[in-house]
Amino acid sequence: MEAKEQGLLIVLSGPSGVGKGTVCAALRKRDVPFTYSISVTTRPPREGEVDGVNYFFKTKEEFENMIKRDEFLEWARYVNHYYGTPRRYVEEQLNAGRDVLLEIEVQGALQVKKKFPQGIFIFLVPPSLKELEQRIVSRGTESRDVIHNRMVVAREELEMMKHYDYVVVNDKVELACDRIEAIILAEHCKRERM
Ligand code: 5GP
Repeated sequence: MEAKEQGLLIVLSGPSGVGKGTVCAALRKRDVPFTYSISVTTRPPREGEVDGVNYFFKTKEEFENMIKRDEFLEWARYVNHYYGTPRRYVEEQLNAGRDVLLEIEVQGALQVKKKFPQGIFIFLVPPSLKELEQRIVSRGTESRDVIHNRMVVAREELEMMKHYDYVVVNDKVELACDRIEAIILAEHCKRERM
């Protein structure tokens, strides 16, 4: 096929602690042909997180100014902090024919779905809720209150998987990556005939 088509917008969501970050890192190592949108957040960096790599870390005021200037494709409040996807980078990449992966929570994903109904919406789930809590606890970066809040949100988030095109179980990271790669490949094949 000749003309440069728009890239695919791939949205990956799933409850906190399901391993989205780990899966994305493993996908990056595989050198898959898509680019990642780096989100903006007002949450403080966790140990080892780097500004401009994991997130762009901003103050609440800076974030609210970005909302006013309409710089976000979507944004949401999640467990007392703001998170948002800068619009410009995503649009530039898609227009250049590159696939873009957004790793975002459910409220944001639903906003994206309204703007990009042709996007691919993938929901990553843990093998069980118990396993999810264990993963958040063993990450060791959150206080008990935060863990409790995240589990409440996680239960609500699992309800939302009905809005997604695909559900991928993260039982083993490499298997989850295989499934995501297969979905993206299949979606490209689907579009070949359009
Ligand atoms: P964390 O604080 O664990 O890095 O992220 C908390 C939640 O925010 C995760 O579910 C993550 O996917 C989501 N998130 C990260 N970036 C964005 C974003 O730009 N927009 C939205 N709506 N959610 C995001």
